[in-house]
Order: sequence, then structure tokens, then C-alpha cells
Amino acid sequence: MDAETFRRFGYQAVDWVADYMKRVEQLPVLPSVAPGDISRQLPDTAPEAGEPMEQMLADFEKIILPGVTHWNHPRFFAYFPANHSGPAILAEILSAGLGINGMVWQSCPAATELEEKMMEWLRRLLGLPESFKGTIQDTASTATLCALICARERLTEFATNAKGLQDQSGAGKLRIYTSEEAHSSIEKGVKIVGLGAENLVSVAVDSDRAMQPGDLEYKIHADLAQGHRPCAVVATVGTTSSTAIDPLRPLGEIADRFGLWLHVDAALAGSAAILPEKKWLIDGVEKAHSFVFNPHKWLFTNFDCSAFFCREPDTLIRSLTILPEYLKTSHDQQVTNYRDWGIQLGRRFRALKLWFVLRWFGAQGLRERLRAHLQMAQDFKTWVEEAPDFEILAPVPLQTICFRFNPSGTNAGNPPDEEELDVWNKDLLDAVNATGEVFMTHTRLENRFCLRLSVGQIQTQSKDVEHAWKLLQKSARKIYRSA
Ligand code: PLP
Repeated sequence: MDAETFRRFGYQAVDWVADYMKRVEQLPVLPSVAPGDISRQLPDTAPEAGEPMEQMLADFEKIILPGVTHWNHPRFFAYFPANHSGPAILAEILSAGLGINGMVWQSCPAATELEEKMMEWLRRLLGLPESFKGTIQDTASTATLCALICARERLTEFATNAKGLQDQSGAGKLRIYTSEEAHSSIEKGVKIVGLGAENLVSVAVDSDRAMQPGDLEYKIHADLAQGHRPCAVVATVGTTSSTAIDPLRPLGEIADRFGLWLHVDAALAGSAAILPEKKWLIDGVEKAHSFVFNPHKWLFTNFDCSAFFCREPDTLIRSLTILPEYLKTSHDQQVTNYRDWGIQLGRRFRALKLWFVLRWFGAQGLRERLRAHLQMAQDFKTWVEEAPDFEILAPVPLQTICFRFNPSGTNAGNPPDEEELDVWNKDLLDAVNATGEVFMTHTRLENRFCLRLSVGQIQTQSKDVEHAWKLLQKSARKIYRSA
């Protein structure tokens, strides 16, 4: 494609995205397609001859768009936010245009130096300790995997990297501790680093669903008594189900006392630490050895962009370093080579979108948007609390509300049992999602099916949250009447 052809279609593509931002609200949030509907429209083999771009853009609209779940719809309330923004999209275009690979400083000095600076900007915005040095990973899952590798290598004095786990079979099992509410990426990480899912110890949570320090300590003692080797604690700030906050200070004190690596998974909630009134979320973070949060979740930076900080970058580098002849450069002693800070060798220029986002919105603009989301969540919580036929099922420290329809209080006859409530709430979720007007997901808390409303997309306004609430009430009453 020559530059002029690129320019012509480039303008069309940018126009398309600008129009999409304006009209996304009119599209159904969740596509009404069945499995296989998209695939059926695509040929089984790649075309032998090149095709015209006009046709490709038309097919994008005709085949792909109807199969898209619109994460950036103002009434996307499912899972967790993954929000985009104009400045991040523009930076992504520039990054794609440059097409660099920032594996080492020399392979793109600007990518490395901008990344160092952006991680420092983020560190200061969140108020993380000065000793924390950061890098951008693709996802929190990868960052947690790196943290677990560090913990394993630190405890085994880098022998596992050299000899593998088999060689230490007599030495007791390395144990990782995390709460019952931790994200599945912790278990996946434990499996990948070769420790075995059986050695992931589940620590009990309190009534707010936060990890109980007392139970952590108890389980460490029990493991030591059995000859195991406690290795790391993974704390969560903002659990996936209900945004519960593990107490970092007491957990850090325990980790310190037993010499364990403390990793903090703040994938969603970390962004909130840019708010002075939410700094309590990470109270005690100076005791952590590593910390991850995702600007691609709730800081208006297109997926993917995960900020990983490490208090002991030397342990990280030593755990992951590789130095084949063809990657050696004469600057290696003076510069950061991010290839040694993560799993992959090749690295995208992700710092560019952070730079654009942080400069476009400014810290103040970001804080205002997060505060607006938090306020919308509190408003929704109040409506649920005030409704006689709905109930809140977990505290709401952030932007996610866990609740359910429960007409027990309004029912003159027999109160519904838990099984009935589960069925009604599942039906309610299906009914509101089938309208295409909103998209919400669910979780289970104390074995109760509960609906989740997660606020955090860039275009979401109070009217959208109100819309969801009215739709839920109307649909719930319909289900109840027909029950
Ligand atoms: N940790 C928590 C607490 C999450 O909520 C999520 C989101 O799904 C993840 C980790 C995984 O994030 P990622 O998709 O960046 O690996």
C-alpha cells in the first residue's frame, strides 16, 4: 500500500472510529449472534489474490460489527471496564505506524525512555514508594506470573532457574498464599511456574470478602510444621467479584516476618489510588515486593497496558535475564533493557498511549472521571438499598455493585428459598441482557447468585445507570408476576 492509498483509507478508518464513538450508544451492547454465525460468513482459506480495501471495510461493517460486544458502550456494565479514549487511540495509530520493537534500548531508545518516565509518572500519581521501578506488561496475568517467578527464584536462590524444580524434590514444597476471592490468574501463574495448583493455599476471607491476616498466619505455621516452604503472598486490592480490599499493612507485616514475597494484584482498583480520598486502598503498599494495576481497565488507555512495579528490580532482572550474543549492545551498562523485565522478548510501544492519555486528561481530568464513576456506583447502591424487593450483597468501596432481586420483604406468602432466588436472578440477568440496552454479568458470593453492575466506561453517565436500574426493576417485576 503506497502512502497516498494509506492516507485515503486512513482518513476513512479514522472517520469510522469517530462516528462509532458517536453512535455506539444506538447499537445493542451485546450482539444477538449465535455461536458460528460470524465464522460461517468467512472463507476457509486466505485469498490467493489481494482484495480491494473498499470490500474489506464493507465486510468489516457487514460481518464483524454485528458480532462485536461493545465494551465502550455507555451501558456496558459487565465484567470490569476496559475503556478506550481518543488520545489512546491516536497514540495506538502512531505506534502502529512506527511499527517498532522495543525489546532493548537500542532497538528503540524513545520507547524505553518514555516507558521509564511513564512508569515514574504513574508511580507518583498513585503514591507508590520511590523504590518501586516499573515496566509495562501486556496484562495483569503476565505481571503476576513474573512476580511468582521472582518469589520462586528468591526463595530457591536462583537454583530453580538453573536446575529446574525436579532437582529440589526433597526440599519441601513451595507454597503460595492468596484469598478465596483472588483472580484465576493467580492459580494459572502458580501452574505455569511449576509449583502446582495444590500448593496454592486458599486463605479465608472476612464478611467483607477481604483476606484474613489471622488465617494467613495460621496457614503459614501449619505449612512450616509440615516441612513446606512458604514462598509468596498474593493480595488483591479490588477482587474481581466484589472489589473487596485485602488489608496490605497486616499482610505485609506477616510476609516480612516469614520472609515471603508480597505481590499486590490491583488490576482494576489500582487506578483509584490516584484519588487522595482512596489512598487507603493501598495503605501498607511499601511492604509489597511487586504491584500491578491495569490502565487498560480503568484509566482510559486502550487494551493492552498493565503497569507492573517491582521493589526489587534486581531480582526481576536476574530471574528473567537472557543475553545471547546477538542482543548485546555497547550501551548495556548504561541503559534499561526491558527484555529482562518480562516474559516476551518483543515489546510494543505501549508507553506512547499512556503519555497521550496522561497529558490529554491531566491528573485532574482523570480524577474527575473516576470520581464520577464512583458517585454513579454509590447512587445505584442507594437505589437498591431503598427498594423493598432488591438487596445489596457486598460492600461497595469502588465502582462495582453486587446485588440481587429478593422480594421476600414484600411477599405476604412464603418467602422464596435460595434456589428460587438464584433462578429468578439468572432469568433477570438474561432478560435485561436480551434487550441489548445494557450488558451486565454475575458472580456468586456465599453461594448466592448475584448480579454485578460495574461502572467505568468513558461515556457512561448518570442517565445510563438510571436506565439500567429502571430496566432491572421492570424486568424483575415481570419475572416475579409470572413465577
Ligand atoms: N486480577 C484481577 C483482580 C482482575 O479483576 C482481573 C481481570 O479480569 C485480572 C487480574 C486479569 O487481568 P488481565 O486480563 O490483565 O490479565
